Amino acid sequence: MQNTSTAISGTLDKDELARLILEASMSLLNCPGGFLSDYVWTTQSVRVAQALGLAAQLKGLSLPVRETLSWEVIDKRDSLILSWDEIRARVTSSALLEKLSPCQIVMVPMVSSSRVVGVLGLSREPASPAFTERDLSLLKTFASQAAVATRNAELYQDMRASESKYRTLVEQAGDAIFVITKRGVLDSANPMALKLLGYTEQEYVQLNLLDLVSLEHRERLTQELRLLVEQGNLLETVDLLHKDGRPIPVEINTVSLGNGLYQAIVRDITVRKRLEEDLAKQRDRAEEASRLKSEFLATISHELRTPLHAILSYADFGLERVSHADRERLKRYFFEIQDSGTVLLELINDLLDLSKIEAGKMSYRRSALTVGVVVDDACYRVTQLAEAKQISLHTSPIPKEWQVYGDYEMLLRVLINLLGNAIKFTPSGGRIDVFGELQEDGYLFAVRDSGQGIYAEELDIIFDKFVQSSLHVQKGSSGTGLGLSICRGIVEAYEGRIWAESAGPNLGSTFCFVLPALRAEAISSLAPQP
Ligand code: ADP
Repeated sequence: MQNTSTAISGTLDKDELARLILEASMSLLNCPGGFLSDYVWTTQSVRVAQALGLAAQLKGLSLPVRETLSWEVIDKRDSLILSWDEIRARVTSSALLEKLSPCQIVMVPMVSSSRVVGVLGLSREPASPAFTERDLSLLKTFASQAAVATRNAELYQDMRASESKYRTLVEQAGDAIFVITKRGVLDSANPMALKLLGYTEQEYVQLNLLDLVSLEHRERLTQELRLLVEQGNLLETVDLLHKDGRPIPVEINTVSLGNGLYQAIVRDITVRKRLEEDLAKQRDRAEEASRLKSEFLATISHELRTPLHAILSYADFGLERVSHADRERLKRYFFEIQDSGTVLLELINDLLDLSKIEAGKMSYRRSALTVGVVVDDACYRVTQLAEAKQISLHTSPIPKEWQVYGDYEMLLRVLINLLGNAIKFTPSGGRIDVFGELQEDGYLFAVRDSGQGIYAEELDIIFDKFVQSSLHVQKGSSGTGLGLSICRGIVEAYEGRIWAESAGPNLGSTFCFVLPALRAEAISSLAPQP
């Protein structure tokens, strides 16, 4: 008995165990056959897990519990001895009857954790000596030990199954998983962890999680590891360092495994962080756009109100004095109204043009333009204005073959605007030069004046809507601050660049723009200029 008990406790393989139990009990009771059935409570069925010798045919048979000879044993939890006549009288299932050879049987329940988990049966030929009470008690004792061994084997198998499930999960996880001690020493790492930081398994051994954290986050994680022991878990966002030194933003989620070890699930959040940053940028841009829009509306209202106010005031004056004021005075009021109306119209036209340019809806009638012709036309149109201020205007001839692909009126508008500004911001007696230069990426055109100049820090912002230089504001000159925005919009629509240069206050300014040159092979295929 002791020998057989020792034998069955030596294995944890369930099938092997079933065979050992059967062989041991058969030799214990000197029987030529035996079977071991599992009782499955959930399906109310019995399956013959192992059968040897006289009963070998029964192996694998599965029947509803009530159709088996074990039913009474399971139901009453009691052992049973049956002669061949009794067996035949009880069997209702033809499947069972077919597989039974004449025998007498003894069956005992196998009970584990107060549940019947199976039945152990032994058989002898009908003519052999009948089973005795002594046989029965021996078998009962043995069955209870066999039940414990079976239960252990089942638990072990379950444990193996869940361990392999866990291992598969860990090995195939999309996140890096480290097992660490409470001080952060690495115990093991899954394949994703090796991939994430570029180390081999051997290199990880003896490393500390803290060694892998960027310097700036190391102190914080050290504190957190201390808390980890108290609280059992930790959730932290830090930068880990790849073997090549590159920081990788990760989220570390640590839970206790219960044996002084902790499982740290490390998720790469590079993409999430980038998306968050993009979102933040978009939000900032939207906020900035909304702020600029409000600012723009406030400025427009102000700009529109000033000339409108003048128109209404002069109209009021006129109406009040229409009966007694002299004609000259009334005429002056009309001139004032006309001037302000013109300013208002120009402002509204500029605003409409600018909104079209910004929305990309401005229609350009493009053709091959000889730029020298446009430059001459622009200078001609401002000559009177310059003469009125005794400003000398000098133009260096632009080579005839310089051609660009663009809209004549729009290019003219840019040049007139720059020339108009140059005249406006240059005191009487000053000088303006217009010249061109061949550049690598196209033709450069420049309008240089000897006027009031611009502060270096304002050279860029004067191209923004409604922005006027501080020198301008000090002097209280007129203007809306839209001209340069329109120029920039037009030049950029030509895929060109525009900028301003100035050595400072009273040192003059130069406004330059570059337009891409039209290549010779393209010229012949385009319509001639108007
Ligand atoms: P506006 O001339 O109607 O005010 P612009 O957009 O054409 O609007 O010019 C914006 C500002 O840039 C001007 O108000 C002025 O302060 C500055 N600016 C433009 N051209 C010159 C120049 N040639 N010299 C000095 N300042 C200039």
